[in-house]
Amino acid sequence: MATSAPLITLVRGDITDQQVDVIVNAANSSLLGGGGVDGAIHRRGGGSILADCRKLRASHYGRGLPTGRAVATTAGKLQAQYVVHTVGPVHQPGLTGEAERAQSELLASCYRESMRLARELGATSIAFPAISTGVYRWPLADGARVAVRTVREAAQAPLLDVRFVLFDDAAYAHFEQALVTAG
Ligand code: ADP
Repeated sequence: MATSAPLITLVRGDITDQQVDVIVNAANSSLLGGGGVDGAIHRRGGGSILADCRKLRASHYGRGLPTGRAVATTAGKLQAQYVVHTVGPVHQPGLTGEAERAQSELLASCYRESMRLARELGATSIAFPAISTGVYRWPLADGARVAVRTVREAAQAPLLDVRFVLFDDAAYAHFEQALVTAG
């Protein structure tokens, strides 16, 4: 029986240029905008994304979106159907054992929950940034490993076109290495 395998690809560039069903935003829990990917998505997507985010804050997420969770809004003027906003953990150096595992699990949860929501929305394609590796300071090598492993495990039909959009050469190289290592 033929089964479709997920196609995980790397793109060097700006996530707001992607044409996909879902663009994932590395948001902060306020959902009201920030720097990095978040700023770029709101700038390029226009005010309708922020308007949706404000509605979410006024309804289900009065205290903000918890770390590791994901919610969808319109994609506004972006070439996508939805933006899925997820809040990565701020990296805390020096954790060991269970605390370190719990921290990594929160980052994995961002990828897993975003894919689950995208599938619920009927998406076949999704573009991720390297969540938490900017202002939230997650080391790129480990962030790439968590991202690749989680997406591999979570990819199921119909969501089979999964892209990581990396903003600079260093991020691209780390994701390339993580894909090779994952085999
Ligand atoms: P976080 O707060 O989760 O760390 P950031 O937006 O600060 O989120 O950074 C996450 C990653 O996204 C970083 O590797 C950063 O270089 C990258 N990045 C920033 N702007 C863009 C963009 N327009 N497209 C894709 N990646 C971006």
